[in-house]
Amino acid sequence: MNLAQLLVRSARVFPTAPALFRHTTLIADYRGLATRSARIAGGLTDGLRLKPGDRVGLFMDNCPEYLEALYGIWFAGLVAVPINAKLHPREALFVLQDSGALALFVSEALSTDLMALLRGAPALRHLLIPGRDEYLKLLASEAVTEPLHRAPDDLAWLFYTSGTTGRPKGVMLSHRNLFAMTTCYFTDVDQVAPQDVMVYSAPISHGAGLYNSAHVLAAARHVVPESGHFDPEELVALSRHHGRLAMFAAPTMVKRLVDHVAQSGSDPAGFRTIVYGGGPMYAEDIRRALDVMGDRFVQIYGQGESPMTITALSRAHLADRHHPRYDQRIASVGVAQSLVEVRVGDAEGRPIAAGEVGEVLVRGETVMQGYWQNPEATAATLRNGWLFTGDVGSLDDDGFLALKDRSKDVIISGGSNIYPREVEEVLLRHPGVAEVSVIGRRHPEWGEVVVAFVVGRPGVSPSEAELDALCLEQIARFKRPKAYRFVAALPKNNYGKVLKTELRQLDQGLGA
Ligand code: AMP
Repeated sequence: MNLAQLLVRSARVFPTAPALFRHTTLIADYRGLATRSARIAGGLTDGLRLKPGDRVGLFMDNCPEYLEALYGIWFAGLVAVPINAKLHPREALFVLQDSGALALFVSEALSTDLMALLRGAPALRHLLIPGRDEYLKLLASEAVTEPLHRAPDDLAWLFYTSGTTGRPKGVMLSHRNLFAMTTCYFTDVDQVAPQDVMVYSAPISHGAGLYNSAHVLAAARHVVPESGHFDPEELVALSRHHGRLAMFAAPTMVKRLVDHVAQSGSDPAGFRTIVYGGGPMYAEDIRRALDVMGDRFVQIYGQGESPMTITALSRAHLADRHHPRYDQRIASVGVAQSLVEVRVGDAEGRPIAAGEVGEVLVRGETVMQGYWQNPEATAATLRNGWLFTGDVGSLDDDGFLALKDRSKDVIISGGSNIYPREVEEVLLRHPGVAEVSVIGRRHPEWGEVVVAFVVGRPGVSPSEAELDALCLEQIARFKRPKAYRFVAALPKNNYGKVLKTELRQLDQGLGA
């Protein structure tokens, strides 16, 4: 079955339900959205002569056209290659070359710089810019009558990893993978009704965009904010206008939203569900978020290779404040989602006992087919039917997964493992610490020592002695940072993830 059937079904059952908004302006109802996508599909196949399985890139800022183009690609049995709009044109070019994309939907503003490089991607034949001739021609094409039938393992979404280490790899996700992810949204994250509103304030090319499918299936509303990105003030305004807002946000965005709501005294009632994930959410931060905005949060843990679907920490878990293990639970990433098995394993993937730390492994319907034209990387990551995530954690007796860190971020000092997150959680308890990130620095005697990068709250500067005292109260002496670096901000990638590689370089550059 083709993912575009989700849209066809909603268009049939709820033809006049509002589907797509730019900010507060209605652009299309479900019938309109399905028709536009079916026409784009007709244009891609009859006009541009693309064949099932061909790749089509999407290099667009968050915009309403993203969804009609995506479903147009799926309708026609083509493979969508989402490219983060914040990438440098050269990085986008790499994705286009590697995937062999024949056509590209591209925002006007992003097309200019890219055009100069396109000799490097000779396979790319068509640039489709919303509002321009070629795009309008697509929309004027004869609509395909129905989505092209797809086998479960046929590719739908070729997603490039952010490539913080080495070159990006194309994660091959099939129609089956994304159907399973959609089902998990309903079982593990949230129920959705037609009046509900998904707002895209994080990049549609990433997890936030993938959540469109659950909302298309439920015939809910899709809102692209005017700014196209994350702006707390704008979100609060949208929550007032539309109500019943659901969104996906990285923990750093949640923090900014919560700060804004607290400072402005805004009513959070228009936010229904805030799904957070993509990076660590510290216990102190989620506690504050719940205090300020109420029980509106759900955590997910996933990665491109099993998108949005490894574990979830439900609204009910986060609300269960009297549970004897509440403190551990809110610092965890929750329990396995319903269509995956999660295991913590040793280097060979054998399960290890509850409480022991090992690599997180995943098996199930949502796990990728492999990396695009990269059998070595696929063989290293998919072994004996399990996805080796590269994340390190431990499961408790109730199945809650405490994520420590990426295995490459674990610090080994004097032969002992130190998980940066554990130290970060402690430092964040200091009221003067707004953000913190802990890395390892090479050391001739210890192998590595702990270095903490600290961002202070405005007007407060925590002293090293206070931070040291806090660590000595809470964690083993050897885990205490040997150096503190006070900085104005932490380097982050486009999804709000802290770039530890850059911190390590910065640490070297600053000298001991
Ligand atoms: P990406 O494939 O770019 O989405 O990155 C996935 C990685 O982000 C995972 O392998 C984890 O290291 C991290 N991550 C995702 N969700 C969470 C979460 N809820 N808590 C902590 N880390 C997370």
